[in-house]
Amino acid sequence: MTEDNTSISVFWHRRDLRLEDNAGAYQALSASDDPVLPLFIFDRNILDKLEDKDDARVSFIHQEIRRLKKELEALGSTIIVRYGYPEEVWRNLLQEYTIQSVYTNRDYEPYAKNRDQKIKAMLEEQDIPFHTYKDHVIFEGLEVEKKTGGSYTVFTPYSRAWKSKSNSNSFQSYRNEDYFDNYHKTDPLPIPGLDDIGFEESEIEIPPREVSQGLIRQYDKTRNFPAQAGTSRLGIHFRFGTISIREKARKAQKLNDTFLNELIWRDFYAQILDNYPYVAERSFREKYDYIQWRNNEEEFQAWCAGRTGYPIVDAGMRELNTTGYMHNRVRMITASFLTKHLLIDWRWGEAYFARKLLDYDLASNNGGWQWAAGSGTDAAPYFRVFNPYTQREKFDKDWKYVKKWVPEVNSPDYPKPIVEHKMARERCLETYKAGLDRAEG
Ligand code: FAD
Repeated sequence: MTEDNTSISVFWHRRDLRLEDNAGAYQALSASDDPVLPLFIFDRNILDKLEDKDDARVSFIHQEIRRLKKELEALGSTIIVRYGYPEEVWRNLLQEYTIQSVYTNRDYEPYAKNRDQKIKAMLEEQDIPFHTYKDHVIFEGLEVEKKTGGSYTVFTPYSRAWKSKSNSNSFQSYRNEDYFDNYHKTDPLPIPGLDDIGFEESEIEIPPREVSQGLIRQYDKTRNFPAQAGTSRLGIHFRFGTISIREKARKAQKLNDTFLNELIWRDFYAQILDNYPYVAERSFREKYDYIQWRNNEEEFQAWCAGRTGYPIVDAGMRELNTTGYMHNRVRMITASFLTKHLLIDWRWGEAYFARKLLDYDLASNNGGWQWAAGSGTDAAPYFRVFNPYTQREKFDKDWKYVKKWVPEVNSPDYPKPIVEHKMARERCLETYKAGLDRAEG
């Protein structure tokens, strides 16, 4: 069935849900000979694996797609939105439309790379070029390369090289609006409702996409204290591209070097996942896969529910369960507690965060977990075990954060610690040492 006979180029939105300053869409609009029709696919390969039918990320994406549709309709165009398996969807689109070329932005996750390769091959069989662009990061792949070649695997030298490579061009925005006329003019197309794709509206609130300059200016002073609103909460917007990394990096460069560094961590982990895709399943330092985890199911459930008897750990887990957010300092503490105090495989914690975090991103989540477990790129030596008590004293001195999430902390209703700190620390050191010794042979 042909819905529309005009020759078109398709721009495929994925983790870049915005019309402005969008690298791939800019190329499509400015370079293609044909009018551009945008596309978004609710991908069943991803959605079918989500456990919660009221997943806040899916509601958020749906809301952002509706926003894009409105913006495009105001320009006389629209967006094709489909629900299904990408290969099937593309097979149908090729029948329905006369497609001359396809444009998209690169995604560095193993699943996405594999999917794109298949779609590229399918399109090329019909002589349709598949053009891809860098949009999600400032530098990708091996753009920041060691002098001796190869990718950096330690953050500090990477960030130094990142900074010396960057110049004003690196942060330049694309002026998509200059070419908005080149969107395909057509009638609105229907989009599937949330219920059509098997989901329902979430109650969780999404943080705004704007952040004050004042907050960014103060970031280095406030970012470590979970009781303060001292970080940007932009994670979900970076994840789905509802904001542009170039615009934010430009601001960061002017306003606060510590904030810029955090954006560089994001690039760093994206290039690690791209260059070492095995980290999605295995330890970056392969020796760490010899550690014999205890993996006690009951203790894992206590950790998930925020009932370990360690106030700062429980506060973090309850914040996550309630809001889809957890402060970075507390992510480090809860992850360290799971892997080191409880000796539970970092992959269990990684999967739980993946289910709950609004800003869940495979590259950064995996990087954060492997860092905490000691198996990752920048890992501190494993024998440095965070002490949850002193962490609380340092970063939540007046108990404000803990009391917000664990109001019963000083009452008899609060659980006793599920494990004693000193014993857990020693057990961790022995277990890690035994695992690493086994790895050596
Ligand atoms: P801000 O502190 O305001 O920082 C601004 C942005 O910089 C963030 O939104 C994020 O895009 C980036 N950023 C900041 N810190 C890091 C970091 N350490 N690594 C990579 N990028 C960073 N971040 C995610 O985006 N997704 C995840 O799934 C994720 N999982 C994590 C798991 C663990 C165990 C740990 C220790 C960290 C994880 N992080 C993750 C990194 C960091 O905790 C979050 O990016 C940050 O807390 C998000 O809050 P914010 O938006 O207020 O960040």
